Amino acid sequence: MLHCDRIFRAGYCVTQNKDREIIEDAGIALSGHDIMDVGPWKIISAKWTGKEFRDFSHCIVMPGLVNAHCHAAMSVFRGLADDLELMDWLANHIWPVEKKLSPHVVYTGSKLSCAEMARSGTTTFSDMYLYQRQVCEAVDEVGLRGLLSEGVIQSPTLTYDSMDEGWTLIRKLHQDYVAHPRIQTPIMAHAVYTTTPEVLQESYRLAMEFGSKWMIHAAESESETALCLDKYGKRPIEHLDSLGLLGPQTVLFHCVTVSDREIERIAESGTSVVHCPESNMKLGNGCAPVQKLLNAGVCVALGTDGPASNNDLNMFREMASAALMQKGFTGDPKALPAQDVLDMATLNGAKAMGLEKVGRLEPGFKADIIALDVEAPHLMPMYSPVSHIVYAANGMEVCLCMVDGNIVYDHGAYPAFDKHELYAEICRVRQWILSNLKKSMKN
Ligand SMILES: [Zn+2]
Repeated sequence: MLHCDRIFRAGYCVTQNKDREIIEDAGIALSGHDIMDVGPWKIISAKWTGKEFRDFSHCIVMPGLVNAHCHAAMSVFRGLADDLELMDWLANHIWPVEKKLSPHVVYTGSKLSCAEMARSGTTTFSDMYLYQRQVCEAVDEVGLRGLLSEGVIQSPTLTYDSMDEGWTLIRKLHQDYVAHPRIQTPIMAHAVYTTTPEVLQESYRLAMEFGSKWMIHAAESESETALCLDKYGKRPIEHLDSLGLLGPQTVLFHCVTVSDREIERIAESGTSVVHCPESNMKLGNGCAPVQKLLNAGVCVALGTDGPASNNDLNMFREMASAALMQKGFTGDPKALPAQDVLDMATLNGAKAMGLEKVGRLEPGFKADIIALDVEAPHLMPMYSPVSHIVYAANGMEVCLCMVDGNIVYDHGAYPAFDKHELYAEICRVRQWILSNLKKSMKN
């Protein structure tokens, strides 16, 4: 017999391996941070003994989801103001408070978002915001895997007065986390309309120096395209291309307003795209041509975007929205089938983020694993686990979330922190936000 730390028995194991194998009555052997073996229960139980056994025979066990784009700390603004024009929403509701944000509020909001993501099956997320050191602290504490970046935006910002200060801040954060097993600090530039071409190119050079990914919001709305055409005579993707910023290290968030020629260039250059369907719908920006991008061979991942424009960080809801939106907008029920959507939320997410050993349940991969309790009326009967994952599940079936071999959420409990303390702190942040909004209205 071989020895391992843990053995799981799973009712259904959705491996997401090369053959997209689904094993009914499966066994998974885990040791340290890694998956040692996956196969039929009969074989695994005859081959392995573990220090701990967990029975998930009433569950789907699958790879943890990858939320490839969000602004976690914005959970503190969730539900503060909805159903508004973007500029009205920003200028009258978000900016008055955002400009007073403290490191503590960013830490608290990020921690709440980590709790929400663990609760709903996300094990890895990519985040762009400010006070990113506090985001790193929250992620480290809760135990998720994160690609966490101080947004590059034309200075002055709340966290740096000049670009030189900004680059120093970003370099320092990178140095401090370069050896962390779960946290990476790639470079994320905000957008073409909040940076100059020089700042974009400098940020890209820094990403190449770090050997990290370079990410940016791009082609999110018609108004962004109009601004870019007006200022540079080029559409956003053409603009980035002309600056030499497309390539295998580049990840574009949104790509709603992309022409067929731009899709070709994204594909040719090996650039990845993150689709954020709910944010695009809520802000009235339209539907990204995801099926066209996939047909062209682009790696398309899935993200929730910030919780103030969604309003959650739930990747199960996002998967359903992605599938339904693509069919609704294209008029083609065959567009974006369930398996492709699940690939976007697992394999493609990991690939776009540059994480080679994440996104599959396969020997040698990281033990980033979730279990969904499927003994529930809305998930019966069971013909296809993938269909249920994408179309019927809502994320609240997740009963276990494991990252890098550590359990971060287990049947209502978070082993790493006191959830009641966190909720109490969030109530205090809410009071602080409301009193700041009142003050800004008086002025
Ligand atoms: Zn965003």
